[in-house]
Amino acid sequence: MVIKNPEVKYTQLFINNEWVNSVSGKTFETVNPVTGEVITRVQEGDKADIEKAIKAARQAFALNSKWRTIDASERGRLIFKLADLLERDIDYLASLETLDNGKPFKDALWDMNAAIASLRYYAGWADKIHGKVIPADGPFLAFTRSEPIGVCGQIIPWNFPLFMMAWKIGPALTTGNVCIVKPAEQTPLSALYLASLVKEAGFPPGVVNVVPGYGPTAGAALVEHRSVDKVAFTGSTEVGRIIQASAGRSNTKRVTLEMGGKSPLVIFEDADIDAAVLTAHAGVFINQGQCCCASSRIFVHDSIYDKFVQRSVELAKKRVVGDPTDLTTQQGPQVDEEQFNKILALIDTGRKQGANLLTGGQRCGSKGYFIQPTVFSNVTDDMTIATEEIFGPVQSLFKFSTFDEVIERCNNTNYGLAAGCFTRDIDRAIRFAQQVQAGSVWINTFLALGPQTPFGGFKESGFGRENGEDGLHEYLEVK
Ligand code: NAP
Ligand code: MG
Repeated sequence: MVIKNPEVKYTQLFINNEWVNSVSGKTFETVNPVTGEVITRVQEGDKADIEKAIKAARQAFALNSKWRTIDASERGRLIFKLADLLERDIDYLASLETLDNGKPFKDALWDMNAAIASLRYYAGWADKIHGKVIPADGPFLAFTRSEPIGVCGQIIPWNFPLFMMAWKIGPALTTGNVCIVKPAEQTPLSALYLASLVKEAGFPPGVVNVVPGYGPTAGAALVEHRSVDKVAFTGSTEVGRIIQASAGRSNTKRVTLEMGGKSPLVIFEDADIDAAVLTAHAGVFINQGQCCCASSRIFVHDSIYDKFVQRSVELAKKRVVGDPTDLTTQQGPQVDEEQFNKILALIDTGRKQGANLLTGGQRCGSKGYFIQPTVFSNVTDDMTIATEEIFGPVQSLFKFSTFDEVIERCNNTNYGLAAGCFTRDIDRAIRFAQQVQAGSVWINTFLALGPQTPFGGFKESGFGRENGEDGLHEYLEVK
């Protein structure tokens, strides 16, 4: 059940299982995107606070520490406990996420359930991670140990704040690492509440620290620090590049990057049109369009193009935009003014470059950061809206004729996060899955994500995988 205006309980930094003010004494605002008004002020972490968090994390990771010496099964039990506490407080946490991020409450609940599932999946791994005995040449006994990497900096985006935090702390903790989480400046509140649950669950001090603050200050300090062993990042390619370079300049810390995409969804002429129209719509409008693996390029076979366009427009016009605490709402506001302006500017560029704007294209109302569900047809590959990540409620419909042509066009991007196709021809579906360059490929569906299946990018969508067994290895050293 949605809680209107949930009380904000935590606004300080969480270091060593304690709530503290920032060393500088500075705070920053977090804003409700429905109104543009300030919800509260949060302590602003910077280099000195990151330094404190690293010290706490280092102590928690010391060889004889409680965390390093507990049974692996006990590590798993603590993560299960954290998942149970999240479930206990799910209505509050989902309401808090809605307040800070603007996403519809129903979607926030989905995020929370997905976060719980992710934590439980990784909790189960804790005592099932083992090495190998290897028949090495010579009179030797050779065996491997899978060991934690150490202090992990985890930089979180604002589009799925708590969900992405769960994706990062779950695999890190189950493998015995310690974490310093830097939530996005726009959405720090759910991460802070989760920190309170970390303490309640009984994790030793310093195992999870949460330091809100800005990317170029707190985030950069974490990435530059020689005492941080790994950084996991989700966000823009621009910042991902900075992080990789900075990691190289400091201590060559391990880096995993997840940096968005321009994911194609191809509708072949034999597709189940009803399902394809609905999935293509949901694939891009989900979460106000703020989704790294959104179906932001929809290629439709020319024989069904006009029908597909017409039905997509009808669906977009029916999309309910408004108060995210209302259970009938499908789309809330964009996360902040910067994203709002960027999306409207890209829509304008699309129009000027000759794409056909069929519905939407304007802000909704006069308050907050709402944008009308927007559909463009006759989009061509050279247009800015075809190449740049819009990260907003904008559907772009392209036309194609042949299989080879569409594969080439799908792959003609620097990104490679996800892809999908709709067809009833199994041979074609498998050929598509083989030839398209993307970390996730969906057939007759889209966005079928789960804790068991690896997720991550080809090309400039990043490297490293989250989720599944592959996600574990990103937090392990093999000795
Ligand atoms: P961003 O700057 O890449 O933000 C992601 C995270 O990185 C935030 O926590 C951010 O901190 C932090 N950060 C920023 N600069 C940093 C630095 N120099 N060192 C370390 N950490 C740093 O993304 P954005 O500016 O919010 O959004 C811009 C675009 O990125 C969007 O329009 C979208 O295209 C893309 N994006 C993709 C995803 C995804 O899921 N892959 C998620 C979000 C955004 P702050 O809180 O200070 O920003
Ligand atoms: Mg930024």
